[in-house]
Amino acid sequence: MDDECLFCQIASGKIASDIVYEDNDVVAFTDVSPGAPTHLLIVPRVHLASLNDTDTKDIELLGKMMRAAITLAKEHDLAEGGYRLVINTGKDAGQTVGHIHLHLLGGRSLSWPPG
Ligand code: 5GP
Ligand code: ZN
Repeated sequence: MDDECLFCQIASGKIASDIVYEDNDVVAFTDVSPGAPTHLLIVPRVHLASLNDTDTKDIELLGKMMRAAITLAKEHDLAEGGYRLVINTGKDAGQTVGHIHLHLLGGRSLSWPPG
């Protein structure tokens, strides 16, 4: 059995997904269970379980994830109407996959605060 995590395997192409963007550091793909008309996940290629596992050395990587999300939001015509970026961290936030992922949600009105 492969002990690499799910999003490591998606990022490396071992598990197929609908990849919408990739570069040397980050990969973005469509969420399998979308919560909005546009629901993308932006992940680092390196395995980091959650924001709690990041350090000052990861500042540039976190910025690259954010920049990729902003570019994708514009490409999906979300800039004017608005969109939401979310990183669920830990049990109380409902994190279900132990590899950092930035959700990009848009294309409908999003309620606040989230559940
Ligand atoms: P979390 O709840 O951890 O913040 O978000 C995990 C997200 O990953 C969920 O929105 C879920 O639908 C998505 N997800 C889980 N498994 C897969 C998968 O195999 N492929 C894709 N594309 N998304 C997945
Ligand atoms: Zn991983």
